[in-house]
Amino acid sequence: MREFVKPKVVVSKCIEFDHCRYNGDMISSPIVAKLKDYVDFLPVCAEVEIGLGIPRSSVRIVLENGEHRLIQPSSGKDVTEDMKAFCTNFLDSVGEVDGFILKFRSPSCGLKDVKVYPSVSKSGAIEKTSGYFGGEVLKRYPLLPIEDEGRLRNARIKEHFLTKLFLLAAFRKVKSEGSIKDLVRFHTENKYLLMAYSQAELRKLGAIVANKENKPFKEQISDYEGHLYRAFTKPPRYTSSINVLMHALGHFSENLSNGEKALFFDWIQKYREGKTSLCPAINTIRSWVVRFEDQYLMHQTFFEPYPEGLLEVDPVNSQFREDLWK
Ligand code: SF4
Repeated sequence: MREFVKPKVVVSKCIEFDHCRYNGDMISSPIVAKLKDYVDFLPVCAEVEIGLGIPRSSVRIVLENGEHRLIQPSSGKDVTEDMKAFCTNFLDSVGEVDGFILKFRSPSCGLKDVKVYPSVSKSGAIEKTSGYFGGEVLKRYPLLPIEDEGRLRNARIKEHFLTKLFLLAAFRKVKSEGSIKDLVRFHTENKYLLMAYSQAELRKLGAIVANKENKPFKEQISDYEGHLYRAFTKPPRYTSSINVLMHALGHFSENLSNGEKALFFDWIQKYREGKTSLCPAINTIRSWVVRFEDQYLMHQTFFEPYPEGLLEVDPVNSQFREDLWK
């Protein structure tokens, strides 16, 4: 079983942490509840931090003289500048983080699809935007895993988010420890995962690790980081994941019966058709890794990209193919 570096994740406080929504509610999120055992959460509520209190009248984004303003319609209070100051101060002081999970469609925390109203009294949105805090997070950390709790109910989005989150946390440790040996080990253990995400970036990262130009470690790790982020900008194509599994199968195929191979290909076909996740095929390979004591595959993160306790799938919204990705 792998040991994982605990990622640091900023989360909207009203998701599973506090009854701090405008009406005193808390949002439930199975993934955030589960992640509490595996990540260091930094919960924050922007609206409470700017002194709006709990409960409070809701705020909305209003278009005024061609400019977005954050207004509390019941009091007419304009809290735009307070909110902007909070975003700057909080993000300036938060230190290194590996990801964000923010509240869907909130005028403060939302990442997208936040309604903009024509006035404080009129209903009916005229456009959509990001919330103040969510938008600033996206601007400052374009390469980190950042999701809202709504999208994380989609199995495929969750899989990509968790994979990237735990990978970047592990990389942060390598970077801070500053050793070439650690970088080589990190690259070796993530080879299959990189192969699934981007063959082109895998080749570039391999060349950076080989370091034929003898660059100092600081330069080497910074080049590596840039390409690592690039490799993980999008989830892998399902055909690439299948390709990695076929590669792994090559380690054992001579020692397997036709029946064992047929069962494996059946799982691959079901995954190809979007009828199941990659888990059954991966677990089949993992059982062979143990049976044949394949030391190389045993350490490949592809087969356990994040802690096993986070593996189970939300049955209500299980979508596995990238053509379902939005
Ligand atoms: S969405 Fe953000 S600002 Fe609104 S209650 Fe939740 S944490 Fe607070």
